[in-house]
Amino acid sequence: MFATLSDRLTSTFKNLRSKGRLSEADIDATIREIRRALLDADVAVPVVRDFAGIVRERALSAEVSGALNPAQQVVKIVNEELVNILGGEHRPLNFAKTGPTVIMLAGLQGAGKTTLAGKLALNLKEQGHTPMLVAADLQRPNAVTQLKVVGERAGVPVYAPHPGNQGEAALPGVSAGDPVSVALAGLETAKTRQHSVIIVDTAGRLGVDQELMEQAADIRDAINPNEILFVIDAMIGQDAVATAQAFNEGVNFTGVVLSKLDGDARGGAALSVARVTGKPILFASTGEKLTDFEVFHPDRMASRILDMGDILTLIEQAEKAFDTQEAERMAQKIQDGKDFTLADFLVQMQQLRNMGSMKKMLGMLPGMGQMREALDNFDEREVNRIEAIIQSMTPAERDNPKIINGSRRSRIAKGSGTTVTEINQLLQRFDAAQKMMRQMNKGGGAGMPGMPGM
Ligand code: GDP
Repeated sequence: MFATLSDRLTSTFKNLRSKGRLSEADIDATIREIRRALLDADVAVPVVRDFAGIVRERALSAEVSGALNPAQQVVKIVNEELVNILGGEHRPLNFAKTGPTVIMLAGLQGAGKTTLAGKLALNLKEQGHTPMLVAADLQRPNAVTQLKVVGERAGVPVYAPHPGNQGEAALPGVSAGDPVSVALAGLETAKTRQHSVIIVDTAGRLGVDQELMEQAADIRDAINPNEILFVIDAMIGQDAVATAQAFNEGVNFTGVVLSKLDGDARGGAALSVARVTGKPILFASTGEKLTDFEVFHPDRMASRILDMGDILTLIEQAEKAFDTQEAERMAQKIQDGKDFTLADFLVQMQQLRNMGSMKKMLGMLPGMGQMREALDNFDEREVNRIEAIIQSMTPAERDNPKIINGSRRSRIAKGSGTTVTEINQLLQRFDAAQKMMRQMNKGGGAGMPGMPGM
């Protein structure tokens, strides 16, 4: 995510660090480098111009602070102005006071609307809402089916009165070919079934066109959304700005979702969208999986770009991944003097996996930008192997690994596609972990057990 931009900016700052005082020439040279880095990352030209102007002015007027050296001061200014470009404050989703909250998605075809619909639905469901998806993209032949797949994965119902739809009968008077009446019927259905949120997926085109915009505006007028989210593919480069402007004029969206931020795209165009349209970025989509989804915080994104890490996001994700009930069950088990088993070990592994890509997590730690190369060599398959090994054991073996003799080891290796050496290593690691758990138990300190070998 913005890796190239991030590298360029951090190396610019590194050059500054050696200087005790900054002359006007130093500042100008720095601003030039920042400007070039932003332009190369596809940040829109007028946005870069304004940004560079403000940073230069502030850096020269030297808001003197005893706590920061000159280089740190420049970093602080760049950080603050980056936060401004990204929209300043985090803006949460607006919910309806009564009846279902209506969220409409708009954007070009392939922007990631359908995928986002599933991610957002899952996220809302996890917060206790009861979302329903509405398939009002009737242009792309596969769109309805795709939304159904996404809905199924998220465990959220999909309303789609459309040919090829299984299960959902069209309401009387609803024309299956007309997205406006489908959207309206979806809203009515949500009211009857008491869904608290509907997410309406609309059609996109490969390019902005009049008909598409009118259709989106008609849907909007019919269902009166609480939020109209414009989904934009961060990879589309400089076109992002024109597209965003066209959609802003056409449907007057209320917020932006940046999608495909996982690519090492230049991505900077997406950074211009909030400034150019004056609309806040609410969410970011960072991969093809349903869980590759983040609430967008301008300040956290800025510090990630400047490689200051993103501790808050890290903590939030960790909290989500670690099932507190499971942690309590574990703690209780240890207090009761019961043994930590391989089955427990497996549950912990799986929780760790929930945290999403390890690489992504580590990338959020401060200073990790410089370790990117090391991170790229990080072998996430290790976790997969451990999981496969434990899953290839019988319940008896998981409860009592001592019974795992030579022939059992080769059976497990075969079953898990690993080698006997790997089984031996895992068992040794587990043995060490188990001893540690017993020690903890004796000491009375039962917290969350560490992740052996991690
Ligand atoms: P729509 O036409 O706007 O509904 O776009 P889709 O949701 O169908 O997405 C288009 C393609 O982009 C699909 O292949 C998705 O899997 C992929 N995609 C969507 N969001 C992301 C993302 O955040 N990261 C990546 N890498 N791919 C994405």
